[in-house]
Amino acid sequence: MPKVVTLPGDGIGPEVTAAAVAVLREVAPDLTFEEHLLGGAAIEATGEPFPQATRDALKTADAVLLGTVGGAQNSPWNQLPRHLRPESGLLALRKALGVYANLRPVRVQPGLEHLSPLKPELSRGVDILIVRELLGGIYFDQDRKIDGDTAYNTMRYTTPEVERIARIAFWAAEQRKGRVTSVDKANVLEVSELWRRDVTALRDREYPRLHLNHEYVDSVAMLIVSDPARYDVIVTENLFGDILSDLAAVIPGSLGLMPSASLGDGPGLFEPIHGSAPDIAGQGVANPAAAIMSAAMLLRHGLDQPHAAAKIDGAVSQALKTAPTRDIGGTAGTQEFTAAVLQALGRAD
Ligand code: ATP
Ligand code: MG
Repeated sequence: MPKVVTLPGDGIGPEVTAAAVAVLREVAPDLTFEEHLLGGAAIEATGEPFPQATRDALKTADAVLLGTVGGAQNSPWNQLPRHLRPESGLLALRKALGVYANLRPVRVQPGLEHLSPLKPELSRGVDILIVRELLGGIYFDQDRKIDGDTAYNTMRYTTPEVERIARIAFWAAEQRKGRVTSVDKANVLEVSELWRRDVTALRDREYPRLHLNHEYVDSVAMLIVSDPARYDVIVTENLFGDILSDLAAVIPGSLGLMPSASLGDGPGLFEPIHGSAPDIAGQGVANPAAAIMSAAMLLRHGLDQPHAAAKIDGAVSQALKTAPTRDIGGTAGTQEFTAAVLQALGRAD
C-alpha cells in the first residue's frame, strides 16, 4: 500500500489538494494518505514552517503531494525572520527530499489553444516535458565571491550529476515520443562540453533506441516559442532550465494548468506551479487542474503507475471542456470541475 504524504499548505492549496486526493482515491484505491503541515499552516499550528512531524512522515512516504505555500504580500508571516517564513519550509522540504530533477510538462490542451499567447497554429498540440537539473550548477557552487568591483559564480557539473539527470530525461522519453533535446552552450562553455559528452555517452550505452540531439540555449529560447512542436523532452542544467521553464510556462496560457514533479532518489514531490493565490483563496473558485495533473505525475513518475496517470490526464482534458473554471473563461467552481473529472473517469472504465 503506497503511502502518499499530503501537504495542503496555504491559500488555495487545501482546496486544490482535496480535489487531487479525491481523483487519486478514484483511480488508485491502493494508496493510503497521511496529511501533514507545511508553510503558513504549519507556522500557525507549531511556530515552524517545516515541523518535525512532517519531517518524520517523509521517512515512510512513497510520494509527497503538495498544495501551495505562502501568504499575501501583506501577510504577517512576511514579518517573521526569513528562516521562519512559509517559503523557507518549502525550501527545507525540497532539501530534505534531495530532489535533483524538476519536471514540468508544457501542454496546450485541445480546445484551449485560444488561451495561449502563441498563434493557434503554433500552440496546437504542444506537448513538451522540460527536465531541469535542480541541485547543481551556478546557483549552488560554493566557488563564488563578491570582492570590491569584482564578483564571480561558477557553473560546475560532474559526470555523476549529469548522468542522473539525463537518466530521468531518457526514462521519461521512453514513455513519450522517444526524443530528447539536450540544451547547453557548448560553443562557449567547457562545462557544457562535459554535459554534452556525458549525455551522449549515456544514451549510447543505455538508451540506444532513443533519439538525442543537442541545441544551444539561445537557439532554444527562440525555437520554443517559434516552433514548439519540434520538442518532446528537453533536458538542461539549472540556470538554463530556470529560464526556459518559465518562458515555456506561458505557452499554455494559464497558471492553473501547469503541474510539476521534483524527483530524487527517495520519494518525489508533486505540486502545481502556481502560488497560493490569496486573492481567491477560500472562495471555491480555484482551478484544481494543475494539482490534479500533479497527482497524475505522482502516479507516473513517483509510483510507476503510468496507466492510471494517463486516465487522469484524459479525464482532465475532458473536464476542461465540459466544466471550465473562471481562469480559463468558464464559470465552474473547484468542486464542479472535480466532479466533472470524476465523472469522466467513470466513463473511461
Ligand atoms: P507565488 O505565490 O509563487 O509568488 P504568484 O503570486 O506569482 O505566486 P499566484 O499566487 O499563482 O502567483 O497567483 C497569480 C494569479 O493567478 C492570481 O490572480 C491568482 O488568483 C491566479 N491563479 C493562480 N493559480 C490559480 C488557480 N489554480 N486557479 C485560478 N486562478 C489561479
Ligand atoms: Mg503569490
